[in-house]
Amino acid sequence: MSIRCDVLVVGAGPAGSSAARAAAKKGLKTILIDKKEEIGNPVQCAESVGTYLLPYLPFKIPKELLRWEITGMYLWTENLAIIKDERGIFSGYAIDRLKWDSWISSIAVKNGANLLAETKLISLEFDGNQVIKAIAEKAGKKVEFKPKYVIGADGTHSTVIDFLDVPKNEVLGYVRSFEMKNLKLKYPKYDQLFFGEFAPKAYAYFFPISNTSANIGIGTIYKNKNLDDLYEK
Ligand SMILES: Cc1cc2nc3c(=O)[nH]c(=O)nc-3n(C[C@H](O)[C@H](O)[C@H](O)COP(=O)(O)OP(=O)(O)OC[C@H]3O[C@@H](n4cnc5c(N)ncnc54)[C@H](O)[C@@H]3O)c2cc1C
Repeated sequence: MSIRCDVLVVGAGPAGSSAARAAAKKGLKTILIDKKEEIGNPVQCAESVGTYLLPYLPFKIPKELLRWEITGMYLWTENLAIIKDERGIFSGYAIDRLKWDSWISSIAVKNGANLLAETKLISLEFDGNQVIKAIAEKAGKKVEFKPKYVIGADGTHSTVIDFLDVPKNEVLGYVRSFEMKNLKLKYPKYDQLFFGEFAPKAYAYFFPISNTSANIGIGTIYKNKNLDDLYEK
């Protein structure tokens, strides 16, 4: 049996849940699927958001999701030149990304979208340019959708894009990231970015999420670099 809908949104990250919210709000029969068992988990994000972006959102983010205020940013280069910007565009918050993804998907549901977790898109079928079928897998069983439109919001390793006649994204970079606790932070109110040969053609970041914890990470665009070595550096 096929499930008919106007819009099938693949991926309940911020993009997919926002799209599902907007479609459902317009009265379209909207189904939002995500392969994750728990929406937003695991978190793959350093959780920093700029204050200047918040007024552009069509809703107010609950205060409890904005868990730590950031007042500025340090940008460090190898020769230790520092730019410190306070209260400008570099001020913001550490958002609780797990709760944020869950919250924004719940807003989509409140507006009428049907959310199916643990439901992984595996294929799309087209008649010319028109999508006619989407097959997903849920608990080992195939689920068939007949959507009028599909919104591919399934992130950097998109399955949707595999079925489209468009150039595939090349891998943009590689990152090793951690959430660290019980820290003594020198600059707990500042996000910090570090540029140098330790992060070839990318950067390292240190984003506090409380007085004693931070999301930290290091990236590179090169596949052959060992991220653990870069992290040690
Ligand atoms: C290490 C790291 C740190 C970052 N730090 C920040 C930061 O500090 N601030 C910031 O603004 N951004 C940050 N980003 C970027 C940010 O996380 C992304 O821009 C954002 O998550 C993109 O949202 P999205 O909804 O497009 O995709 P995603 O959040 O990736 O959501 C895609 C969803 O699709 C689902 N999905 C994938 N394939 C399928 C499938 N076949 N079927 C069903 N569901 C599927 C996934 O489970 C996922 O839930 C960071 C990214 C990384 C990797």
